[in-house]
Amino acid sequence: MVRETGYYDLLGVSPKASLDELKKAYRKLALKYHPDKNANEGEKFKIISQAYEVLSDPKKRELYDQGGEQAIKEGGVGGGGSSPMDIFNMFFGGGGRTQRERKVKNVVHQLGVTLEELYNGSTRKLGLQKNVICEKCDGYGGKKGALEKCSTCKGSGVQVHVQQIRPGMIQQIQSMCSDCQGQGEKFNSKDRCKNCNGHKVERKKKILEVHVDKGMKDGQKITFHGEGDQEPGLEPGDVIIVLDLKEHPVFQRQDDNLMMKMKIKLVEALCGFKKTIHLLDGRTLLIHSSPGQVIKPNEFKCIHNEGMPVHRDPYEKGLLIIQFEIEFPNKHWLPEHMLPDLEKLLPMRDHAMVLDDMEEVDLCEIDYESQKRNYSGEAYDEDEGPRQGGVQCQTQ
Ligand SMILES: [Zn+2]
Ligand SMILES: [Zn+2]
Repeated sequence: MVRETGYYDLLGVSPKASLDELKKAYRKLALKYHPDKNANEGEKFKIISQAYEVLSDPKKRELYDQGGEQAIKEGGVGGGGSSPMDIFNMFFGGGGRTQRERKVKNVVHQLGVTLEELYNGSTRKLGLQKNVICEKCDGYGGKKGALEKCSTCKGSGVQVHVQQIRPGMIQQIQSMCSDCQGQGEKFNSKDRCKNCNGHKVERKKKILEVHVDKGMKDGQKITFHGEGDQEPGLEPGDVIIVLDLKEHPVFQRQDDNLMMKMKIKLVEALCGFKKTIHLLDGRTLLIHSSPGQVIKPNEFKCIHNEGMPVHRDPYEKGLLIIQFEIEFPNKHWLPEHMLPDLEKLLPMRDHAMVLDDMEEVDLCEIDYESQKRNYSGEAYDEDEGPRQGGVQCQTQ
């Protein structure tokens, strides 16, 4: 029994969600609310990460399901103990702490793909803005040898502000020197590189060619090593592309299988049928049920080797699974006098045993609206005589 669902609601999943569903929900929200993309949503990013951290850990999830957020806090299992950025980096492979100091941080981008693209494979061009080492000054920032000690911070890289809190009580606040960005040295304006304005890097547009292979999955990462932002003295970061599958109107993917629903008429379910299926690569399949086969409502059937191609082994494919919906005829489709003829053809019915003390009642359509009105008494007019109770029945 789930008492509190706040964390599930944050991720937009049901309390019964599988780990895969949690991951998918977190992936989408984390990329949407990441401070790089959405500077004003830092708080939202934090609480999403917190919810994911708890729910993705079976022990913490159990604790949460039993006692809610309170139990997580009291349990001392560190709900919200990791920083949202650490959780994000762990999820998207942003590298560890030691790596981070020598390497520029990675950039994660989401790429929306169709099921057709994952089936057939595709090449997508993605235009990205990134920092590259300034060509004009080779990342030096200005004229070689012209670097001067920063006069604002006297070379220390920090600025000290003295603030009076109350009379006789002062506080020193240290902050990074804004004139030299904490470097302690800077170029005077005539020696500064005009191209990068002394920033050592410039913003450039770069086109990445993303190869979506046959059989790749929703949420799969494609890493471009060293294609991320550059910074002098550091290893460039990576660009990580995360595939985000768009919904398909006909097929749903389940691992390497494809699922679809097919409507057939009652006559087809009983007497056999021929139907076509348009596949994701443009081919059309003709399927038929053999004589004597009966398809039951919601029954599943499959076609071998017509599902999704297996990643890195694309000649191998999963199953195409079809779930049948049977369309029954509408009422009075057959004149009443012909019903006995139909009955003769159908499997025999079970006869109910009828006893004298049984009450015979009508079978009605369900109308929740009028049930509500009856209960509240609003629909009831005194002139209409005593109330029968229950739902009004329309007999035909
Ligand atoms: Zn300075
Ligand atoms: Zn420059």
